[in-house]
Amino acid sequence: MDDVIIIGGSFAGLAGALQLGRARRKVTVLDTGLPRNRFAGHSHGLLGHDHKPPLDILAEARQQLARYPTIRLVNARADSISGAIDDFSVLTGDGESLGARRLILSYGVADQMPDVPGFAEGWGTSIVPCPYCDGFEVAGQHWGLVWSGRQSHNYVRLYHDWTDTLTLFADGHDIPPDIRADLARRNIPVVDGRIIEIAHRGGHNATVKLDTGPNVAVDILFAHPRNKPSASLHESLGLATVNTPLGIALKVDERRETSMPGIYAAGDMCEYDSVVHGRVVRIEHEEVAAAHAQRAERLERQQFYLRVHRVERCFSLAFRGCDA
Ligand SMILES: Cc1cc2nc3c(=O)[nH]c(=O)nc-3n(C[C@H](O)[C@H](O)[C@H](O)COP(=O)(O)OP(=O)(O)OC[C@H]3O[C@@H](n4cnc5c(N)ncnc54)[C@H](O)[C@@H]3O)c2cc1C
Repeated sequence: MDDVIIIGGSFAGLAGALQLGRARRKVTVLDTGLPRNRFAGHSHGLLGHDHKPPLDILAEARQQLARYPTIRLVNARADSISGAIDDFSVLTGDGESLGARRLILSYGVADQMPDVPGFAEGWGTSIVPCPYCDGFEVAGQHWGLVWSGRQSHNYVRLYHDWTDTLTLFADGHDIPPDIRADLARRNIPVVDGRIIEIAHRGGHNATVKLDTGPNVAVDILFAHPRNKPSASLHESLGLATVNTPLGIALKVDERRETSMPGIYAAGDMCEYDSVVHGRVVRIEHEEVAAAHAQRAERLERQQFYLRVHRVERCFSLAFRGCDA
Protein backbone atom coordinates (compact mmCIF):
# COMPACT_ATOMS: atom_id res chain seq x y z
CA MET A 1 0.00 0.00 0.00
CA ASP A 2 1.22 3.52 -0.83
CA ASP A 3 1.42 6.31 1.68
CA VAL A 4 -0.20 8.65 -0.84
CA ILE A 5 -1.91 8.48 -4.21
CA ILE A 6 -1.97 11.77 -6.08
CA ILE A 7 -4.70 12.13 -8.69
CA GLY A 8 -3.58 14.63 -11.31
CA GLY A 9 0.15 14.83 -11.98
CA SER A 10 0.65 18.32 -13.35
CA PHE A 11 2.09 21.44 -11.64
CA ALA A 12 0.37 20.94 -8.29
CA GLY A 13 0.41 17.15 -8.18
CA LEU A 14 4.07 16.79 -9.16
CA ALA A 15 5.10 19.51 -6.68
CA GLY A 16 3.40 17.50 -3.94
CA ALA A 17 4.96 14.25 -5.16
CA LEU A 18 8.46 15.75 -5.10
CA GLN A 19 8.29 16.73 -1.44
CA LEU A 20 6.61 13.53 -0.36
CA GLY A 21 9.03 11.39 -2.35
CA ARG A 22 11.99 13.20 -0.85
CA ALA A 23 10.50 12.61 2.58
CA ARG A 24 10.61 8.92 1.64
CA ARG A 25 6.85 8.54 1.49
CA LYS A 26 5.71 5.98 -1.05
CA VAL A 27 3.74 7.90 -3.68
CA THR A 28 1.85 6.97 -6.83
CA VAL A 29 0.83 9.75 -9.22
CA LEU A 30 -1.98 9.12 -11.70
CA ASP A 31 -2.21 11.50 -14.63
CA THR A 32 -4.01 11.83 -17.96
CA GLY A 33 -1.65 14.45 -19.42
CA LEU A 34 -4.07 17.32 -20.03
CA PRO A 35 -2.87 20.35 -18.02
CA ARG A 36 -5.07 23.44 -18.19
CA ASN A 37 -2.48 25.59 -19.96
CA ARG A 38 -1.70 23.07 -22.70
CA PHE A 39 -3.22 25.52 -25.23
CA ALA A 40 -0.55 28.15 -24.50
CA GLY A 41 2.66 28.25 -26.54
CA HIS A 42 4.67 29.49 -23.56
CA SER A 43 4.23 29.65 -19.83
CA HIS A 44 5.36 32.73 -17.93
CA GLY A 45 6.15 33.78 -14.39
CA LEU A 46 7.40 30.48 -13.02
CA LEU A 47 10.89 31.07 -11.70
CA GLY A 48 13.49 29.14 -13.65
CA HIS A 49 10.99 28.18 -16.34
CA ASP A 50 9.88 31.52 -17.75
CA HIS A 51 8.87 31.47 -21.43
CA LYS A 52 9.03 27.70 -21.78
CA PRO A 53 6.26 25.61 -23.36
CA PRO A 54 4.17 24.27 -20.46
CA LEU A 55 4.46 20.66 -21.59
CA ASP A 56 8.28 21.00 -21.60
CA ILE A 57 8.20 22.18 -18.00
CA LEU A 58 6.13 19.19 -16.99
CA ALA A 59 8.31 16.76 -18.98
CA GLU A 60 11.37 18.13 -17.19
CA ALA A 61 9.64 17.78 -13.82
CA ARG A 62 8.70 14.18 -14.54
CA GLN A 63 12.27 13.45 -15.56
CA GLN A 64 13.53 14.86 -12.27
CA LEU A 65 11.00 12.84 -10.29
CA ALA A 66 12.12 9.64 -12.03
CA ARG A 67 15.26 9.55 -9.86
CA TYR A 68 13.19 8.89 -6.75
CA PRO A 69 12.43 5.21 -6.14
CA THR A 70 9.69 6.38 -3.78
CA ILE A 71 7.67 7.97 -6.61
CA ARG A 72 5.75 6.03 -9.24
CA LEU A 73 4.31 7.99 -12.17
CA VAL A 74 1.43 6.25 -13.92
CA ASN A 75 -0.25 7.46 -17.10
CA ALA A 76 -3.78 6.48 -16.19
CA ARG A 77 -7.10 8.01 -15.21
CA ALA A 78 -8.48 7.60 -11.70
CA ASP A 79 -12.03 6.40 -12.19
CA SER A 80 -13.29 5.89 -8.66
CA ILE A 81 -12.32 6.19 -5.02
CA SER A 82 -13.55 4.16 -2.09
CA GLY A 83 -12.55 3.56 1.52
CA ALA A 84 -11.52 5.90 4.29
CA ILE A 85 -8.44 7.38 5.90
CA ASP A 86 -5.59 4.87 6.17
CA ASP A 87 -7.31 2.56 3.68
CA PHE A 88 -8.32 4.24 0.43
CA SER A 89 -8.72 2.38 -2.88
CA VAL A 90 -8.43 4.00 -6.26
CA LEU A 91 -9.58 2.21 -9.39
CA THR A 92 -7.87 3.30 -12.60
CA GLY A 93 -9.22 3.36 -16.13
CA ASP A 94 -6.86 0.45 -16.87
CA GLY A 95 -8.64 -1.65 -14.26
CA GLU A 96 -5.81 -1.47 -11.71
CA SER A 97 -6.81 -1.17 -8.05
CA LEU A 98 -4.39 0.86 -5.92
CA GLY A 99 -4.37 1.36 -2.17
CA ALA A 100 -3.09 4.26 -0.08
CA ARG A 101 -3.43 5.78 3.35
CA ARG A 102 -3.90 9.32 2.07
CA LEU A 103 -5.08 10.89 -1.19
CA ILE A 104 -4.33 14.19 -2.87
CA LEU A 105 -6.74 15.45 -5.51
CA SER A 106 -5.00 17.76 -7.97
CA TYR A 107 -6.90 17.09 -11.16
CA GLY A 108 -7.29 20.77 -12.03
CA VAL A 109 -10.14 22.46 -13.82
CA ALA A 110 -11.41 22.47 -17.39
CA ASP A 111 -12.35 25.80 -18.94
CA GLN A 112 -15.77 25.63 -20.58
CA MET A 113 -15.51 27.16 -24.05
CA PRO A 114 -18.55 29.29 -24.91
CA ASP A 115 -20.46 28.36 -28.02
CA VAL A 116 -18.94 31.22 -30.06
CA PRO A 117 -17.17 30.35 -33.32
CA GLY A 118 -13.47 31.13 -33.04
CA PHE A 119 -13.36 31.18 -29.22
CA ALA A 120 -11.95 27.70 -28.67
CA GLU A 121 -9.60 28.14 -31.66
CA GLY A 122 -8.08 31.32 -30.15
CA TRP A 123 -7.93 30.11 -26.52
CA GLY A 124 -4.37 30.34 -25.23
CA THR A 125 -3.05 32.50 -28.09
CA SER A 126 -5.28 35.48 -28.92
CA ILE A 127 -7.82 34.83 -26.16
CA VAL A 128 -6.22 34.44 -22.73
CA PRO A 129 -7.32 34.62 -19.09
CA CYS A 130 -4.41 36.11 -17.19
CA PRO A 131 -2.33 39.29 -17.61
CA TYR A 132 0.45 37.90 -15.40
CA CYS A 133 0.78 34.98 -17.80
CA ASP A 134 0.52 36.84 -21.10
CA GLY A 135 0.30 40.61 -20.49
CA PHE A 136 3.96 41.56 -20.75
CA GLU A 137 4.24 40.48 -24.39
CA VAL A 138 1.37 42.81 -25.41
CA ALA A 139 1.94 45.67 -22.96
CA GLY A 140 0.91 49.08 -24.28
CA GLN A 141 -1.26 47.58 -27.01
CA HIS A 142 -5.03 47.53 -27.46
CA TRP A 143 -6.57 44.99 -25.08
CA GLY A 144 -10.14 43.71 -25.07
CA LEU A 145 -11.94 42.22 -22.08
CA VAL A 146 -15.10 40.13 -22.24
CA TRP A 147 -17.39 40.94 -19.30
CA SER A 148 -18.03 37.87 -17.15
CA GLY A 149 -19.49 39.47 -14.03
CA ARG A 150 -18.65 42.01 -11.33
CA GLN A 151 -15.16 40.54 -10.99
CA SER A 152 -14.42 41.92 -14.47
CA HIS A 153 -14.40 45.39 -12.93
CA ASN A 154 -11.38 44.36 -10.82
CA TYR A 155 -9.62 43.12 -13.94
CA VAL A 156 -10.17 46.50 -15.61
CA ARG A 157 -8.41 48.23 -12.74
CA LEU A 158 -5.61 45.68 -12.75
CA TYR A 159 -4.95 45.95 -16.49
CA HIS A 160 -3.77 49.56 -16.10
CA ASP A 161 -0.43 48.08 -15.08
CA TRP A 162 0.04 46.96 -18.67
CA THR A 163 -1.99 49.21 -20.95
CA ASP A 164 -4.13 52.33 -21.11
CA THR A 165 -6.00 51.12 -24.19
CA LEU A 166 -8.77 48.77 -23.17
CA THR A 167 -12.17 48.00 -24.71
CA LEU A 168 -14.78 46.20 -22.67
CA PHE A 169 -17.19 43.85 -24.44
CA ALA A 170 -20.48 43.55 -22.55
CA ASP A 171 -21.36 40.42 -24.56
CA GLY A 172 -25.07 40.85 -23.92
CA HIS A 173 -24.71 41.35 -20.14
CA ASP A 174 -26.12 44.24 -18.16
CA ILE A 175 -23.23 46.16 -16.69
CA PRO A 176 -24.38 47.99 -13.52
CA PRO A 177 -24.64 51.81 -13.87
CA ASP A 178 -22.06 52.50 -11.13
CA ILE A 179 -19.50 50.40 -13.00
CA ARG A 180 -20.39 52.02 -16.32
CA ALA A 181 -19.80 55.41 -14.72
CA ASP A 182 -16.41 54.28 -13.43
CA LEU A 183 -15.47 52.94 -16.87
CA ALA A 184 -16.46 56.23 -18.50
CA ARG A 185 -14.32 58.11 -15.98
CA ARG A 186 -11.40 55.87 -17.00
CA ASN A 187 -12.08 56.43 -20.73
CA ILE A 188 -12.74 52.75 -21.27
CA PRO A 189 -15.27 52.24 -24.09
CA VAL A 190 -17.98 49.64 -23.55
CA VAL A 191 -19.12 47.76 -26.65
CA ASP A 192 -22.66 46.49 -26.18
CA GLY A 193 -24.09 43.60 -28.14
CA ARG A 194 -23.43 39.92 -28.10
CA ILE A 195 -20.24 38.38 -29.46
CA ILE A 196 -21.15 36.09 -32.37
CA GLU A 197 -17.70 35.21 -33.67
CA ILE A 198 -14.04 35.85 -33.00
CA ALA A 199 -11.70 35.87 -35.99
CA HIS A 200 -7.93 35.50 -35.75
CA ARG A 201 -5.22 36.81 -38.05
CA GLY A 202 -2.23 35.05 -36.53
CA GLY A 203 -0.28 36.11 -33.44
CA HIS A 204 -2.32 37.52 -30.60
CA ASN A 205 -4.75 39.56 -32.74
CA ALA A 206 -8.48 39.00 -32.53
CA THR A 207 -11.39 40.58 -34.35
CA VAL A 208 -14.56 40.53 -32.33
CA LYS A 209 -17.75 40.25 -34.40
CA LEU A 210 -20.97 41.42 -32.76
CA ASP A 211 -24.66 40.89 -33.41
CA THR A 212 -25.08 44.66 -33.50
CA GLY A 213 -22.55 47.26 -34.65
CA PRO A 214 -19.24 46.99 -36.48
CA ASN A 215 -16.44 44.49 -35.78
CA VAL A 216 -13.80 45.54 -33.27
CA ALA A 217 -10.16 44.49 -33.68
CA VAL A 218 -7.95 44.16 -30.59
CA ASP A 219 -4.33 43.10 -30.09
CA ILE A 220 -5.34 40.56 -27.45
CA LEU A 221 -8.62 39.52 -25.87
CA PHE A 222 -8.96 38.60 -22.19
CA ALA A 223 -11.82 36.32 -21.21
CA HIS A 224 -12.81 34.26 -18.20
CA PRO A 225 -15.07 31.40 -19.24
CA ARG A 226 -16.64 29.34 -16.48
CA ASN A 227 -14.68 26.29 -15.44
CA LYS A 228 -15.30 23.08 -13.56
CA PRO A 229 -13.09 20.44 -11.97
CA SER A 230 -11.67 18.12 -14.63
CA ALA A 231 -13.08 15.01 -12.96
CA SER A 232 -16.06 14.28 -10.76
CA LEU A 233 -14.41 12.11 -8.10
CA HIS A 234 -15.09 14.76 -5.44
CA GLU A 235 -18.80 14.62 -6.31
CA SER A 236 -18.99 10.87 -5.84
CA LEU A 237 -17.32 11.32 -2.46
CA GLY A 238 -19.66 14.19 -1.52
CA LEU A 239 -16.77 16.54 -0.72
CA ALA A 240 -17.69 20.09 0.27
CA THR A 241 -17.33 22.70 -2.47
CA VAL A 242 -17.64 26.47 -2.68
CA ASN A 243 -19.14 28.61 -5.42
CA THR A 244 -16.74 31.06 -7.02
CA PRO A 245 -17.63 33.65 -9.68
CA LEU A 246 -16.36 31.28 -12.39
CA GLY A 247 -17.39 27.86 -11.13
CA ILE A 248 -17.15 25.56 -8.17
CA ALA A 249 -13.99 24.79 -6.25
CA LEU A 250 -13.14 22.28 -3.57
CA LYS A 251 -13.32 23.54 -0.03
CA VAL A 252 -10.07 22.97 1.88
CA ASP A 253 -8.72 24.05 5.24
CA GLU A 254 -5.37 25.74 5.79
CA ARG A 255 -3.67 22.33 5.63
CA ARG A 256 -5.40 21.74 2.27
CA GLU A 257 -7.50 18.95 3.72
CA THR A 258 -10.94 18.53 2.15
CA SER A 259 -14.11 17.83 4.10
CA MET A 260 -13.18 14.12 4.17
CA PRO A 261 -10.36 13.14 6.56
CA GLY A 262 -7.28 11.93 4.74
CA ILE A 263 -8.16 13.50 1.38
CA TYR A 264 -6.25 16.65 0.49
CA ALA A 265 -6.55 18.87 -2.57
CA ALA A 266 -4.24 21.27 -4.35
CA GLY A 267 -3.88 23.51 -7.37
CA ASP A 268 -6.55 25.14 -9.49
CA MET A 269 -9.40 22.95 -8.28
CA CYS A 270 -9.21 24.39 -4.73
CA GLU A 271 -10.80 27.54 -3.49
CA TYR A 272 -8.68 30.69 -3.42
CA ASP A 273 -7.23 31.76 -0.13
CA SER A 274 -10.38 33.05 1.54
CA VAL A 275 -8.69 35.87 3.43
CA VAL A 276 -7.30 37.44 0.30
CA HIS A 277 -10.43 36.75 -1.71
CA GLY A 278 -12.62 38.19 1.03
CA ARG A 279 -10.46 41.24 1.05
CA VAL A 280 -11.08 41.85 -2.65
CA VAL A 281 -14.82 41.55 -2.16
CA ARG A 282 -14.86 43.89 0.80
CA ILE A 283 -12.75 46.47 -0.94
CA GLU A 284 -15.11 46.47 -3.90
CA HIS A 285 -17.66 48.18 -1.68
CA GLU A 286 -15.43 50.96 -0.53
CA GLU A 287 -15.00 54.43 -1.93
CA VAL A 288 -11.28 53.94 -2.41
CA ALA A 289 -11.86 50.82 -4.48
CA ALA A 290 -9.55 51.58 -7.36
CA ALA A 291 -6.18 51.73 -5.71
CA HIS A 292 -6.90 49.21 -3.02
CA ALA A 293 -8.61 46.66 -5.25
CA GLN A 294 -5.69 46.78 -7.59
CA ARG A 295 -3.36 46.03 -4.72
CA ALA A 296 -5.62 43.27 -3.48
CA GLU A 297 -5.89 41.82 -6.96
CA ARG A 298 -2.15 41.71 -7.13
CA LEU A 299 -2.08 39.89 -3.84
CA GLU A 300 -4.69 37.52 -5.14
CA ARG A 301 -2.61 36.78 -8.19
CA GLN A 302 0.42 36.18 -6.02
CA GLN A 303 -1.68 33.72 -4.09
CA PHE A 304 -2.66 32.13 -7.39
CA TYR A 305 0.96 31.33 -8.11
CA LEU A 306 1.82 30.54 -4.53
CA ARG A 307 -1.04 28.06 -4.39
CA VAL A 308 0.90 25.69 -6.57
CA HIS A 309 4.28 26.31 -4.99
CA ARG A 310 3.03 26.48 -1.42
CA VAL A 311 1.43 23.11 -1.94
CA GLU A 312 4.63 21.33 -1.09
CA ARG A 313 4.90 22.94 2.34
CA CYS A 314 1.25 22.15 3.13
CA PHE A 315 1.76 18.54 2.23
CA SER A 316 4.83 18.06 4.33
CA LEU A 317 2.85 19.50 7.25
CA ALA A 318 -0.25 17.47 6.43
CA PHE A 319 1.60 14.22 6.26
CA ARG A 320 3.77 14.75 9.27
CA GLY A 321 1.27 12.87 11.38
CA CYS A 322 0.81 10.12 8.83
CA ASP A 323 2.41 7.43 10.98
CA ALA A 324 0.84 8.48 14.24
C1 LIG B 1 -4.47 29.63 -21.58
C2 LIG B 1 -3.80 29.53 -20.22
C3 LIG B 1 -2.51 30.02 -20.06
C4 LIG B 1 -1.90 29.95 -18.81
N1 LIG B 1 -0.64 30.44 -18.68
C5 LIG B 1 -0.02 30.37 -17.48
C6 LIG B 1 1.28 30.92 -17.31
O1 LIG B 1 1.89 31.47 -18.25
N2 LIG B 1 1.86 30.84 -16.08
C7 LIG B 1 1.20 30.24 -15.01
O2 LIG B 1 1.77 30.18 -13.91
N3 LIG B 1 -0.04 29.74 -15.15
C8 LIG B 1 -0.66 29.79 -16.34
N4 LIG B 1 -1.92 29.29 -16.47
C9 LIG B 1 -2.56 28.66 -15.31
C10 LIG B 1 -2.05 27.21 -15.17
O3 LIG B 1 -2.39 26.48 -16.34
C11 LIG B 1 -2.72 26.55 -13.96
O4 LIG B 1 -2.62 27.37 -12.81
C12 LIG B 1 -2.05 25.21 -13.68
O5 LIG B 1 -2.10 24.38 -14.82
C13 LIG B 1 -2.75 24.53 -12.50
O6 LIG B 1 -2.09 23.34 -12.20
P1 LIG B 1 -2.87 22.11 -11.60
O7 LIG B 1 -1.82 21.09 -11.35
O8 LIG B 1 -3.77 22.53 -10.51
O9 LIG B 1 -3.88 21.62 -12.76
P2 LIG B 1 -3.58 21.19 -14.26
O10 LIG B 1 -2.28 21.76 -14.73
O11 LIG B 1 -4.79 21.53 -15.05
O12 LIG B 1 -3.40 19.62 -14.19
C14 LIG B 1 -4.40 18.71 -13.84
C15 LIG B 1 -3.92 17.33 -14.28
O13 LIG B 1 -4.84 16.33 -13.81
C16 LIG B 1 -5.05 15.39 -14.85
N5 LIG B 1 -6.32 14.70 -14.59
C17 LIG B 1 -7.59 15.16 -14.73
N6 LIG B 1 -8.49 14.22 -14.35
C18 LIG B 1 -7.76 13.13 -13.98
C19 LIG B 1 -8.13 11.83 -13.47
N7 LIG B 1 -9.40 11.48 -13.27
N8 LIG B 1 -7.12 10.95 -13.21
C20 LIG B 1 -5.82 11.29 -13.41
N9 LIG B 1 -5.42 12.52 -13.85
C21 LIG B 1 -6.39 13.42 -14.13
C22 LIG B 1 -5.04 16.24 -16.12
O14 LIG B 1 -4.80 15.47 -17.28
C23 LIG B 1 -3.89 17.20 -15.80
O15 LIG B 1 -2.64 16.68 -16.21
C24 LIG B 1 -2.57 29.38 -17.70
C25 LIG B 1 -3.88 28.89 -17.86
C26 LIG B 1 -4.49 28.97 -19.12
C27 LIG B 1 -5.90 28.45 -19.28
